[in-house]
Amino acid sequence: MSFKVLLLDGIDPAGVEVIARSKTIEPIVHDKISREKLMSMIADVDGIIVRSTTIVDRELMQNAGRLKVVGRAGVGVDNVDIDAATEHGILVMNSPGGSTTTTAEHTVAMLFALARNIPQAYLTLRNRHWDKNKFKGVELAGKTLGVIGLGRIGSEVARKCQAMGMNVIAYDPYINPDAHLSSGFELADIEHVFGQADFISVHVPLSDTTRNLINNDSIARMKDGVRLINCARGGIISEQDLYDALKSGKVAGAAFDVFEVEPNTDSPLFTLENFIATPHLGASTVEAQRRVSEDICRQVSDYLLKNAVDGALNFPRLEAGTVERYRHFVDLAARLATFASQICSGRMQTVSIRYSGEVCDMNLNYLTSLIVRSLLMPVLREGVNLVNAMHVANQRGIRVQETRVPAPENFTNLILIELKTDVESHRVSGTVFTDKLPRIVNIDGYPLEVVPRGNMIFFTNNDKPGVIGAIGSVLGKCNVNIAGMHLGREHEGGKALALLLVDNPVDNDVIEQFRQVPNVLSARVVHV
Ligand code: NAD
Repeated sequence: MSFKVLLLDGIDPAGVEVIARSKTIEPIVHDKISREKLMSMIADVDGIIVRSTTIVDRELMQNAGRLKVVGRAGVGVDNVDIDAATEHGILVMNSPGGSTTTTAEHTVAMLFALARNIPQAYLTLRNRHWDKNKFKGVELAGKTLGVIGLGRIGSEVARKCQAMGMNVIAYDPYINPDAHLSSGFELADIEHVFGQADFISVHVPLSDTTRNLINNDSIARMKDGVRLINCARGGIISEQDLYDALKSGKVAGAAFDVFEVEPNTDSPLFTLENFIATPHLGASTVEAQRRVSEDICRQVSDYLLKNAVDGALNFPRLEAGTVERYRHFVDLAARLATFASQICSGRMQTVSIRYSGEVCDMNLNYLTSLIVRSLLMPVLREGVNLVNAMHVANQRGIRVQETRVPAPENFTNLILIELKTDVESHRVSGTVFTDKLPRIVNIDGYPLEVVPRGNMIFFTNNDKPGVIGAIGSVLGKCNVNIAGMHLGREHEGGKALALLLVDNPVDNDVIEQFRQVPNVLSARVVHV
């Protein structure tokens, strides 16, 4: 087996099956594992898949020399240090889609429970009381539901509630009114939602802008007797402010699945009759657990085996099929950058990349990361990879600029890399013709055509008679066979450059002799 993946926290067996089926990844399953044991195992695995229990922090990653990917079965990644992962070049993925329906259903269940006091009534029955008059509820049909956050879950809740006869208004400043997610609902500003809704359900992520989004102030602007639901993240509705509003009756009832601190068994909210709750059960169904487990295991195995990036939180998306379809551009970008890194000396300062033509159809963030990684690779080796390349460049003060020109220029597709160091700068551009072979078509303004592959000598010289002959005899004496030669020059007698393809690796001794040849200005070994 070429890869090992640790599956922790009781990952659904359906996902383990997905990994096992790959035949080249060994799944190692531990439903419960101590921190010490995990610390001792982490150095030996390529991937780790967790739910919300295992803490994947900086200390763990520092001991994880082989680790390439962390997968979270589900949405929340509070237990994974994403910044540390990026710095260590480790991809972090989650699988949010698999729990959308389940969480939307839970929200609707909470809505009904809240409207009809079902948990409170059940509790009284458990205590052998038949309190028929105490629990008069309200209907949902005809009421206005305010949905805050119209993403995957919010829009599904909105659709379901609309089907139940509710009037749905939604607030989401990041969705266009004509977007698919918002079709069929009234998009409104937040004040309208606060002012009109009988029920308000939040479905936003927890962030600096959404923390305490619902607080004393906003509650004051709501209808008297409004009912609130939070099946998203603890902290979006202020627990302290909600407590006061439930006590005063301004808020008639509230239903929470999530809390500011979890697990939570002694919140003051639990003392209130008009507050109902579940212990973070939003995504807890057989179907959702199976789906998120299958999803994350497929994503992790696609990344390890095919370099496909789906659901990553610290890297742009690149589907498995896309990698295959654009493999020739991926190959071209890596070879051009590897070549450029070896003909340029000095401290790298600026990398300018220009994409034109067909190549713009693919995910260029991926290609840029790949180019930056290939440029830094000769210096940093395995210290740099696709995930941390931009971060490493930024840390080193290297500016990366990118230009995209979707219309073809001189070639149907072209990638140009210009590298500036503190001592020199070089421009290398390349294309892929219909034979799908990557070709360098220009170096420093000199047109030529060469497939960058194998051992090469790149040199510049004054265009004088006898230079090529002298070089040929140096190589002959050193037993280096020339497999091909590509020349470019400014004008007769001006500056010229050449790329020699040679059959064997060339050592520094040979290059030293090369540099002694009259009119040779520079010479460098390149291996692509
Ligand atoms: P999503 O990313 O698809 O949707 C979130 C939406 O919130 C987006 O449309 C975004 O534009 C919007 N948004 C962001 N900031 C906003 C703001 N300040 N005001 C209004 N809208 C804003 O996410 P999702 O998959 O629908 O998940 C929604 C929430 O549910 C998340 O907090 C997620 O963590 C949570 N969740 C909880 C459970 C559970 O077990 N209870 C399960 C799954 C997801």
